[in-house]
Amino acid sequence: MVCAWIDHTYRELRHAAELRVFNPFDASLVACYQEATAREVDAAITSARKAFDDGPWPRMSGTERARALQRLAKLLQNHLQGLAELEIQEAGVTRRKFERMDARLVPEAFHIAAQRAAQDSIREELPAFATGVSASPNYLLRQPWGVCGLITPWNMPLVLAAWKIAPALAAGNCVVIKPSEYTISSTLRLAELAAEAGIPAGVLNVVLGRGPSTGEALLRHRGIDKVSLTGSTQVGHRVQQLTSSRFLPTNLELGGRNVSLVTATDDIEGVARGLLWAAYLHNGQICVAGSWAFVPEEKVSALTVQMVNLMDQLQLGNPALASTDLGPLIHRKHRDHVLNYVNGLMGKGAQLVKGGETPQDPLLSQGAFLTPCLLQGTIQHYQTIQTEVFGPVLTLVPYRCIDEATRAINESPYGLAASVWGQDSDQLTALAERLDVGTVWVNQHHVLSPEYPFVGRRQSGLGTDLGWEGFRSFQKTMRVHLDVTAARDQEAFFYSALLPQVR
Ligand code: NAD
Repeated sequence: MVCAWIDHTYRELRHAAELRVFNPFDASLVACYQEATAREVDAAITSARKAFDDGPWPRMSGTERARALQRLAKLLQNHLQGLAELEIQEAGVTRRKFERMDARLVPEAFHIAAQRAAQDSIREELPAFATGVSASPNYLLRQPWGVCGLITPWNMPLVLAAWKIAPALAAGNCVVIKPSEYTISSTLRLAELAAEAGIPAGVLNVVLGRGPSTGEALLRHRGIDKVSLTGSTQVGHRVQQLTSSRFLPTNLELGGRNVSLVTATDDIEGVARGLLWAAYLHNGQICVAGSWAFVPEEKVSALTVQMVNLMDQLQLGNPALASTDLGPLIHRKHRDHVLNYVNGLMGKGAQLVKGGETPQDPLLSQGAFLTPCLLQGTIQHYQTIQTEVFGPVLTLVPYRCIDEATRAINESPYGLAASVWGQDSDQLTALAERLDVGTVWVNQHHVLSPEYPFVGRRQSGLGTDLGWEGFRSFQKTMRVHLDVTAARDQEAFFYSALLPQVR
């Protein structure tokens, strides 16, 4: 059994805690791994340190690194079929979602990172520092941090690993990544393919284990120069606690409680389709999922009818089948969390419109299935229920005044994403710009790409992932000031002992 991938080699321990990975569709055992101990974490970080301090990777030109990353992108493209099986079996990703979304996003992450590595100007001229008699050239140098500790969640394991690894490597860093204990295999496969692509040993290492043990061993290690986590806000707080005492630069991409904000529109069917997509894609287990929809009061009943009609057509089932829209949730404990959330909302007066049940179909009885749930609530519910649901639950909220709706969104402790829906583009754009969130879509939802920066405000995160800004977060900067001694301003060092002597 494997506990880590270090220096292009799988590591096994004689005695270690087991990590069992189950298929959320039928609870069958898919894979068995071991938990990496602090010693294995140390070995992984030492390997990355050596690759960074003495190896070729950070010393290559951006163009050379780009070539290796392009080779990896191509290998990933060629192995999508096998990668799809891993994501279906471990994360319950549907085949349709993998083929239509992840299959594009994963190679794209490495293509774009390669382009950035090739285009990046690591030296940027700054205005010369001008004094009385001379002007000293100044420039900014961009350098990789060194060894990056990356931690990823279970909801989109391969995409999120690619979104962290690709820019980190492109900038010249070496990496130790810990995937979620629920979804391990695709990250290991990515590391194998990186080796095949010619990325040198030690540049990309993987350690397996749970957060409080292996994850914290990684964060506490003195050999880590930069941390990037994608996960829940709760874990983000803990990670921040551990890294802030050392002022370790830390990116946190955390949870959301995102609203689809509907304006007065006649296209009720179009809006219903959009809200369904926003809320239920991958069972709402996406940080930007639109789990709340604020709707003009007079449109709620027509919209509800359309939503119910569309929800009736969603196919729940085996994620491996091409016809399935919604597979299982990640595991039963998570399903219980979602059910508790729904019951909690109903206990506070929200009304169940549809769903929120474990399906009757005996073929689905072993899996963590839940029928997509539609509730009707109030703005007060949005304000009091502060937790993220991360499940297939959409709460429709009627509003009378758009200002009341935007205020509730802007006062939420989360500030990840939102979408605005309607027909008047100018009005929608103005409305979008009033929302205090990191990403906002107009008549769209879920469109993310490493082309564009992704950032969470307030408790949704710290620092930017993706885009040029995300790439830059894997670099540190240095200012260099060049004084030409012969031309130095004679008055620059103004202590008497240093001033030129009057002869
Ligand atoms: P999680 O926070 O429970 O775990 C995320 C990762 O952190 C896992 O690898 C876990 O093992 C590790 N971890 C847990 N405790 C740790 C600790 N004490 N020290 C170090 N590492 C620790 O999240 P999850 O349940 O795997 O994923 C769902 C969450 O991720 C949701 O809240 C979702 O919103 C969030 N998410 C955010 C984004 C984003 O980009 N903003 C994207 C996807 C998911």
